[in-house]
Amino acid sequence: MIRFGRIFDRVSDADRRKTAEVQAIFRTAFPGEGDYAERIPELLEHRQERGYEVVLLTAEEEGDHVIGFAFAHYYPSLQFAYLDFIASDPDRRTLGIGGALYEAAREHLARKGARGLFMDVPPDDPALLKDLLRLPVNQQRLKFYEQFGAFPVVGTGYEATPPLGQTYDPPYLVYDPLGRQSPLRRADARKVVREILTKKLGWDARDPYVTGVVRSFRDDPVRLRPPRYAPEEPAATPASGRLRHIKLVVSDHHALHHVRERGYVERPVRVDAILRGLSGLPLERVPVRPFDEQPIRAVHDDDFVTYLATVCEGLEPGKAVYPYVFPVRRPEQKPRDMATRAGYYCIDTFTPLSKSAYAAARAAVDCAATAADLVSQGEQLVYAICRPPGHHAERRVYGGFCYFNNAAIAAHRLSARGRVALVDIDFHHGNGSQDIFYHRDDVLVVSLHGHPNYAYPYFSGFEDERGHGAGLGFNRNYPLPEGVGDAQYMEVLEQALLEVRGFRPSWLVVSLGVDVMRGDPTGSFILTTRGMRHIGRALGRVGVPTLVIQEGGYSLRNLARGPRAFFLGLSRAWF
Ligand SMILES: [Zn+2]
Repeated sequence: MIRFGRIFDRVSDADRRKTAEVQAIFRTAFPGEGDYAERIPELLEHRQERGYEVVLLTAEEEGDHVIGFAFAHYYPSLQFAYLDFIASDPDRRTLGIGGALYEAAREHLARKGARGLFMDVPPDDPALLKDLLRLPVNQQRLKFYEQFGAFPVVGTGYEATPPLGQTYDPPYLVYDPLGRQSPLRRADARKVVREILTKKLGWDARDPYVTGVVRSFRDDPVRLRPPRYAPEEPAATPASGRLRHIKLVVSDHHALHHVRERGYVERPVRVDAILRGLSGLPLERVPVRPFDEQPIRAVHDDDFVTYLATVCEGLEPGKAVYPYVFPVRRPEQKPRDMATRAGYYCIDTFTPLSKSAYAAARAAVDCAATAADLVSQGEQLVYAICRPPGHHAERRVYGGFCYFNNAAIAAHRLSARGRVALVDIDFHHGNGSQDIFYHRDDVLVVSLHGHPNYAYPYFSGFEDERGHGAGLGFNRNYPLPEGVGDAQYMEVLEQALLEVRGFRPSWLVVSLGVDVMRGDPTGSFILTTRGMRHIGRALGRVGVPTLVIQEGGYSLRNLARGPRAFFLGLSRAWF
């Protein structure tokens, strides 16, 4: 699992090691930048003295190993930022680190107070390129930024008169308004450009090149290039009549759970992105009903539920506990100290316990249980936007950003009134749902996911895990290789759905993770919005009332597009 962090200085051993890892990636990614990599430690150490703040964000995987970084300058007096470098480890096989880092950098800088972000981006005009082979990459990059509303500045000397003697292709100055609607004012642009040329590139402020470029910003507001690249797929407008109505239940109070200290990708803004993406669909929002612990205790061990409730209750607001001791050798011997005991109930080291995590997890369960009851009362299509997600939570352990298994709780509730097929399409294996129903034949669990040989949770999701006792044959895993795209995915899904149809379920519960899409920082599939729509349609064709539970997906762009495409497919399918 990936997370984002920031290196402030090089005081701790960990930060020194991470800085060295950043430098190593820098040298591989920017061989033409000479000794800049060597200057990174110094830039960090003297970051107060320059009139701007150096911001070094990292993407890290297990073991705090750095796999990508973004290096930006923030000018507090101007409230603007400049993104200097962004790169991911070229040896890494996970796609989308760069995109996710860019999202993380935008969020971080906007939180600091930035009103806009500037960056130099190589041109997509063949006439400006010394080597035409670079054109497709440059086009890809500008297309990527366009999706954030970031466009090259036009009509100025910045892009028209690059300094003499430069050996690289003259870059565009690209401006990202960080989601704000207000235009870029000339006065602001001039100040920022002067800072970039003098502080970053080292020009003398009185040099005629600098004054010339600054003065060349004449338009007010500054003009930006119109969009050049159409989005991957135009946002479909729902055709009237053929769309099934969707009841929507959204976790209340999920935003309480915001883990800031470790650059946690499972963050509140995910829900906002999904909701934004759903606009225009025929939705009706239904309030969440509060439940007691009964639905939770119906699928989770009493001891586990009591532990989570007790330890979280005892924590001060804002305090978090990460497990660090895992008593696997003598499971009968629980550590006495409550915080130390976390490892007894957890599968990894990156899912914190806190007062707000527990409250949010309870609220997510309320959301799932409310949605399950709507389906059992006759609703055909219900979407529960649960946060935190749940499918990694087993009967007696939590982990993978999950505490209680929302989908399993919903499936169990529905199973009282008929057979349930739980289809998990999140990129990661739903070890929790598998564990909870492993011995049962009334809930069929089918999961498509990245093979555990390379993907979290690593210890489950293999093909030969097929259930036990009465449950034998009622658990099916479809582990997939890296790089799976729409066509390959659909082929396997259709096969899995034969299994589902053969089971003749009364209800379908879908664990929806959009981390299968291209660009997710935690996954390595490359599904597109079209693929998500096809998945929705294929599931809709099973033809039974369907409850969709939100699981993972950590690219905000995909969260805005994926569920929308999925529901367009699902609600158009012929029941
Ligand atoms: Zn996932």
